Amino acid sequence: MAYEYDDQNVFAKILRGEIPNDTVLETEHSLAFNDIEPQAPVHVLVIPKGPYVNYEHFTLEASVTELADFSRAIGEVVRLKDLSDDGFRLISNAGRNGVQEVPHLHVHVFGGRPLGRMLARAEA
Ligand code: AMP
Repeated sequence: MAYEYDDQNVFAKILRGEIPNDTVLETEHSLAFNDIEPQAPVHVLVIPKGPYVNYEHFTLEASVTELADFSRAIGEVVRLKDLSDDGFRLISNAGRNGVQEVPHLHVHVFGGRPLGRMLARAEA
């Protein structure tokens, strides 16, 4: 699939400094910030700074340096939010079936309470 990146999406605007964010961590190639509508006591979004639509796009076009930075940033958020002992969940939605609202790759980091089943069984 050939991905086209829409640079008017809200996370692109955050990266350009056009709208504010509640930063948790910034690295050379990644940014982590609190979700504006948290669905758990900890709900952080981790995004690469590069223009990638979703995880597949990222794995196709990102450099090894960007891939490593992003992966490590997620692990660092887990540690910064003290989620290692009690556990956490990572979710990255993509496209129509994944119900992705913002077309810039993001990984949701959830924690701070029991999170229930991964998907409701009735939806399988
Ligand atoms: P998704 O459905 O996976 O695309 O999730 C998009 C997420 O972005 C949702 O959880 C929104 O609450 C969150 N979101 C949208 N706008 C902002 C913003 N300006 N700052 C922080 N989080 C946002």
